[in-house]
Amino acid sequence: MSNPDVIVVGAGLAGLACSRTLVDARLKVLLLERGGAPGGRVRTDAHEGFLLDRGFQVYLTAYPEGRRALDLGALAPRRFIPGAKVWRSGRLHTVADPLRRPGQALSHLLDGPGTFGDKLRVLELRQAAVSGELEDLWQRPERTALRYLEELGFTDGMVEGFLRPFFAGIFLERGLATSSRFLEFVFRMFSTGDTVVPEQGMGAIPEQLAAKLPAGVLRMRVPVAEVWGHRVRLEDGETIGAKAVVVASDPKGAEGLLPGLSAHRMNRVTCLYFAAPEPPVEGPWLVLNGERHGLVNNVAVMSEVSPAYAPKGQALVSVSVLGEPLEAEALQGRVREELTGWFGKAVSAWRHLRTYVLPQALPAQPPPALEPPRRTVRLSPGLFVCGDHRDNASIDGALGSGRRAAEAILMDLGR
Ligand SMILES: Cc1cc2nc3c(=O)[nH]c(=O)nc-3n(C[C@H](O)[C@H](O)[C@H](O)COP(=O)(O)OP(=O)(O)OC[C@H]3O[C@@H](n4cnc5c(N)ncnc54)[C@H](O)[C@@H]3O)c2cc1C
Repeated sequence: MSNPDVIVVGAGLAGLACSRTLVDARLKVLLLERGGAPGGRVRTDAHEGFLLDRGFQVYLTAYPEGRRALDLGALAPRRFIPGAKVWRSGRLHTVADPLRRPGQALSHLLDGPGTFGDKLRVLELRQAAVSGELEDLWQRPERTALRYLEELGFTDGMVEGFLRPFFAGIFLERGLATSSRFLEFVFRMFSTGDTVVPEQGMGAIPEQLAAKLPAGVLRMRVPVAEVWGHRVRLEDGETIGAKAVVVASDPKGAEGLLPGLSAHRMNRVTCLYFAAPEPPVEGPWLVLNGERHGLVNNVAVMSEVSPAYAPKGQALVSVSVLGEPLEAEALQGRVREELTGWFGKAVSAWRHLRTYVLPQALPAQPPPALEPPRRTVRLSPGLFVCGDHRDNASIDGALGSGRRAAEAILMDLGR
């Protein structure tokens, strides 16, 4: 495309949402992506008939930006059961959401981790998270998630047996050092909508956004080497100018292209996939490690959530490990050993499919990371930035930052 109005660097969710808003306003957009497909950190690989998301991820149907940007119905969302199974003291316990699965709430009261008081505190946490306008939630006092849970009075048993592994799986850190504002945001989203994956994998989300862009907007395998003023230089040496440039790359990529940007610490996760002859857990459950020890944080049988994730007659097991990974072979051995404790000898028949080591999975969000809750997307005249590091570290944050950058450009261009 010659003479674009706007160049967007990076076709993750932020870059796609930004481009879409600009295209809808009839601007000529050039979206440059260094990879071979759109989606950035949200991609799905087809492998031997299995669908492997690049790291275990879920979409929350209550995400406000998602509602704005996506045609959820067309993604054929497949739901997780609200609640979780928790591995603790030698067996799996069921933690049901008392308001959404009242039929199972009684067994949860008698069976799940924590005291009766803890279950009431979950309702209190939920009430706090869903009350008021979403915008008010971002103005509440910010402390670490752990401090907030302690202030609410949760017992150690409840924190270790459920809350820590549950939130660690979202924050991608076990210390619960993430902002309490983010905890409240995600808890509100979990409480007011469904937890889903698209039938054909998480990669269907960016694919849907990309499919709505006119031909010629998205150019793949085009790495941008430098950004200055309103111009970009591609790695092959070509330079392109526009009225505005948006850097929509991942946090580390943005730091490289925009030296003035503050550095981001990133949380990491390793996701192992196994093919199993039988599902180790029946039903679309999230399974958490409620013990204080062990490498595994959470497990999900993806083919129980959406059968398209595995060929007929096989199950796809996703296992998430937080923190520094071991060497590949040792990690796989330790994970198998640990899960044999959970699911028995059947684990020996599991076939390892692939391991995704993701050292740059999510920007860390310790307080005051979300003060302000949204950082500026306008860097200088004609130069903009977006991505989950400008909002909150989620699909919703990435989509929202992309829309904000586009709106700022439209305002500057007098549209
Ligand atoms: C394992 C994992 C689990 C997660 N779980 C969840 C979850 O359950 N729910 C949730 O809401 N969120 C989750 N997230 C977070 C969510 O996926 C991200 O916040 C979001 O996808 C970030 O989108 P982005 O557009 O900001 O950045 P990215 O997805 O990183 O996109 C940036 C794009 O820019 C491209 N790029 C970078 N540099 C250049 C360059 N120089 N030239 C051209 N292109 C460039 C990259 O190739 C990439 O495509 C998870 C993330 C990971 C990794």
